[in-house]
Amino acid sequence: EYAVQAVNVTKTYTNGYVGVNAVRGISVAIPCGQMVAIMGPSGSGKSTLLHMLGGLERPTSGQVFIDGSDIAKYSESKLTVLRRQKLGFVFQTFNLLSVLNTIENVALPLLLDGVDSGNAYSRAEESIREVGLDHRRNTLVNRLSGGERQRVAVARALTIQPTLILADEPTGNLDSVNGEQLMHLFCELVHSKGQTVVMVTHDANIAAYADRMIVIQDGRVAEDVTVKSHSPAI
Ligand code: ADP
Ligand code: ADP
Repeated sequence: EYAVQAVNVTKTYTNGYVGVNAVRGISVAIPCGQMVAIMGPSGSGKSTLLHMLGGLERPTSGQVFIDGSDIAKYSESKLTVLRRQKLGFVFQTFNLLSVLNTIENVALPLLLDGVDSGNAYSRAEESIREVGLDHRRNTLVNRLSGGERQRVAVARALTIQPTLILADEPTGNLDSVNGEQLMHLFCELVHSKGQTVVMVTHDANIAAYADRMIVIQDGRVAEDVTVKSHSPAI
């Protein structure tokens, strides 16, 4: 079973009269429970591919299947619902609200989505535990370290029990120790809980934690290597 599958996707951006072929025909199928690193030079199309996998960007052509439906055909409003209900996003800049504490940040998307506050806070509590930040539950996020902030962002992504977590340079603003801690967390989510993670990184030390490395060059897949294969714990 695949968490997400792209079939011959392309993306052409139009800047005035100039077309930029950011993605030139990529097919990838990502099985559930896999941790995938997308690598490649700057400008090669990594973020565009990730954004298309997550319904943040619509392909110019091709298909993207999540749960058996082609999301490339979805309306904007249907895409918004899909992103809110099934996908977890983690960005390089943590995108947290600095005036709120940890649990408020984690509960916020649920509250905005109409979940009642008792339910939202208990689900937030659970994801905070999953990322090991119980002791920071009531701390304002601007008092947290970069590594802790990124774990808050991961906890926020986990509250909806996403089909898929998409991370764009998640360690880009972290030092190597915090970056590796984040990778340990991702590995635990993937290998003990069956979560699926697709991340863009240009750091080979970070990519080394993945089960599979997809190298993009000039909008195409240059290499697609499964480096590890983990059988689920029995
Ligand atoms: P990467 O993530 O590998 O650095 P991107 O996917 O961000 O690559 O970009 C691929 C190409 O598409 C680059 O040439 C970039 O300038 C161009 N591009 C990306 N986003 C846009 C956009 N919104 N409008 C126009 N061109 C874009
Ligand atoms: P990253 O590659 O880390 O995602 P970028 O700086 O390439 O960050 O892109 C930041 C934002 O600008 C993205 O939303 C991207 O789609 C957009 N972008 C990138 N290149 C261009 C471009 N040439 N023209 C317009 N927008 C662009």
